Amino acid sequence: MTSLVQLHLMEAAEQAALAVSILTAPIWEIFSGIFGDIFGGGRRSAQYNGPLKGANIRTSIRISFEEAIFGCEREIEINFKEECASCHGSGAKAGTSPVTCPKCNGKGKIMYTQQSFFGQIQNVQTCPDCGGTGKVIKEKCPDCYGTGYITKRKKIKVTIPAGIDNGQSVRLAGAGEPGTNGGERGDLLVEAVVSNHPIFKRQDTSIFSTVPISFAKAALGGTILIKTVDGDVEYEVKSGTQTDTKVRLKGKGVPTLRNRAVRGDHYVTLVVSVPERLTEAQKEALKNFDEAMNGNPDNDKHKKKGLFK
Ligand SMILES: [Zn+2]
Ligand SMILES: [Zn+2]
Repeated sequence: MTSLVQLHLMEAAEQAALAVSILTAPIWEIFSGIFGDIFGGGRRSAQYNGPLKGANIRTSIRISFEEAIFGCEREIEINFKEECASCHGSGAKAGTSPVTCPKCNGKGKIMYTQQSFFGQIQNVQTCPDCGGTGKVIKEKCPDCYGTGYITKRKKIKVTIPAGIDNGQSVRLAGAGEPGTNGGERGDLLVEAVVSNHPIFKRQDTSIFSTVPISFAKAALGGTILIKTVDGDVEYEVKSGTQTDTKVRLKGKGVPTLRNRAVRGDHYVTLVVSVPERLTEAQKEALKNFDEAMNGNPDNDKHKKKGLFK
């Protein structure tokens, strides 16, 4: 390969990379939640001097089970990088400005010739003095130490939408790292870490719980109170309810993220509890009951399955 061909190939590759960067700009936006931290940052390419969106910042907050169901507002504190007011982001001391890099004459890259077995080879390299920007700062701004940015602690209000699930993130556009060369700021992604609930379990928009009922309630029927995220709900137990009966409380589940008025259901498993300790009077009553049943555990004549006749 001759030196000239190699050089042309490299330049062509750089130009192609530039074209792709511009064409796919809106697509970064969509995927920045996933890839933002890898590709976001403005450090992508030393050769590309156009506007670049800043990197995304990720943080997390712990919220309760109920806060995830109904949504909440939280204030969080983050490190917020802002353009230095003294140098307006240039990094140069007041009264001075960045000058054209003498090493690369502002090109941001340098070419050097290498002797090889095949003859002379020309190579292109990012300028080590200016890092590819084409400008160097002679006297650094004392306020930002030449970085062009000042980092401040900033309080930000985060609105957690009703129905958010553990591991899902809220995006606050423009609260991430500053962009470069006039590029917009990155986003702040706040991940919700949802605490477990002592009674309720959640799967997507469904809530599950187990409610114990007495043998008498199960046999005779009656009103019980079932705990839901909306408070206690009265439920009419049918007579002859078996243990592990599943009950659906419609609309008592988790709101959907798109529309908080649309809610999933709450599924309750009714478990007939057997008393562990009985008074003499209770034992007597149960013995009488057993005799009335003629010792048959299931006196139901309408039983469909006759397995133990
Ligand atoms: Zn400064
Ligand atoms: Zn340079």
